[in-house]
Amino acid sequence: MSAPAEAVVDLDAYRANLARLREVAPTAAQMAVVKADAYGHGAVEIAAAAREAGAEWLGVATLEEARDLRRAGDRGPVLAWLNPADADLAPAVDADVDVAAGSVEQLDAVIASGSAARPRVHLKVDTGMARGGVRGAELTALLEAAATAQRAGRIEIAGIFSHFACADEPASPVNGAQEHAFADAVAELASFGAQAPLRHLANSAAALTRPSTHLDMVRVGIASYGLSPGPAVGTSAELGLTPVMTLRTALALVRRVPAGTGVSYGHTYVTRRETTLGLIPVGYGDGLLRAASNRASALVNGVLVPVAGRVCMDQVVLDLGDTPARRGDEVVLFGPGHRGEPLAEDWAEAASTIGYEVLTRLGGRIARRHAGAIPTITGSGG
Ligand SMILES: *Cc1c(COP(=O)(O)O)cnc(C)c1O
Repeated sequence: MSAPAEAVVDLDAYRANLARLREVAPTAAQMAVVKADAYGHGAVEIAAAAREAGAEWLGVATLEEARDLRRAGDRGPVLAWLNPADADLAPAVDADVDVAAGSVEQLDAVIASGSAARPRVHLKVDTGMARGGVRGAELTALLEAAATAQRAGRIEIAGIFSHFACADEPASPVNGAQEHAFADAVAELASFGAQAPLRHLANSAAALTRPSTHLDMVRVGIASYGLSPGPAVGTSAELGLTPVMTLRTALALVRRVPAGTGVSYGHTYVTRRETTLGLIPVGYGDGLLRAASNRASALVNGVLVPVAGRVCMDQVVLDLGDTPARRGDEVVLFGPGHRGEPLAEDWAEAASTIGYEVLTRLGGRIARRHAGAIPTITGSGG
């Protein structure tokens, strides 16, 4: 390994997770969400694996992410759902990328984009998350404007969608309320004489827990990478999912220190007895969470050992105790758990955050290596 640490991405596990999600939502099309560089897993490789596994759609946030998929050779259906104020939509539309519109203003921007192709638009409804999309009178205006623009041949209404705020808490009453609000929006669009061929609402958590939300398509992100959307949904093992990424490095320095040794910035960790410290060359500059200082652990030679003291920008010290270890021995920070290593969720818990953030923050000097059968991009036509 020449980089200080590597993220090994198991494409076989990724495809198996998509197959599992297909089992859970058999009647809906599957959109593999590959935004934020596929949650840190490498969008190009993950997208190709998703197509190979049969994902009909890819979902991204930005137009740039969609462009990168097209540049990598993907030709299948792609939706990009963010609408920045200064976005140049024409290249995306001309590259057959579906775009979203979450207000009349955003719809007007799509219509005015100057694309050669007729834009395929997914109408974004705010059913209760109060993030993208609109509700009430503003929604009525959006749906009516979209129906009118479609009749005039200026857009094609390809879909209508919304996003859950609390799907990772399956018992929350917000979920049912959002589902109802979405059904109302679909009916309201019909009242203007238009249909959206793709109604989509479910993220990973809803795909796993609320079959009534599957509709025409589910948009799966975190579960496809093998993480549970949240503790109330179950562990990844209970859900039949396998974490796709293993973050590993090697000990750069191993040494014995006496009791009472203060470790790392601020001496927030002081050895209680003589012990072995192991240094690893990765830190918050690579996306490790500093909030996991003194709280996370890693696997060294089959033993779980704690992070000792503060996570630094480029380095972390582990307290190896009396575990036999030498410079060059493998250190697994997180992975699928098969060898007893921590899960990304364990790092999340240690840092009071969510697995999504643990994965997407990784970057910097970490090398990414794809394992498992590596597909070539062919796209699925269209
Ligand atoms: C990120 C995102 C998803 C995927 O959510 P997961 O919880 O990772 O499955 C789906 N839809 C939208 C609009 C998103 O922004």
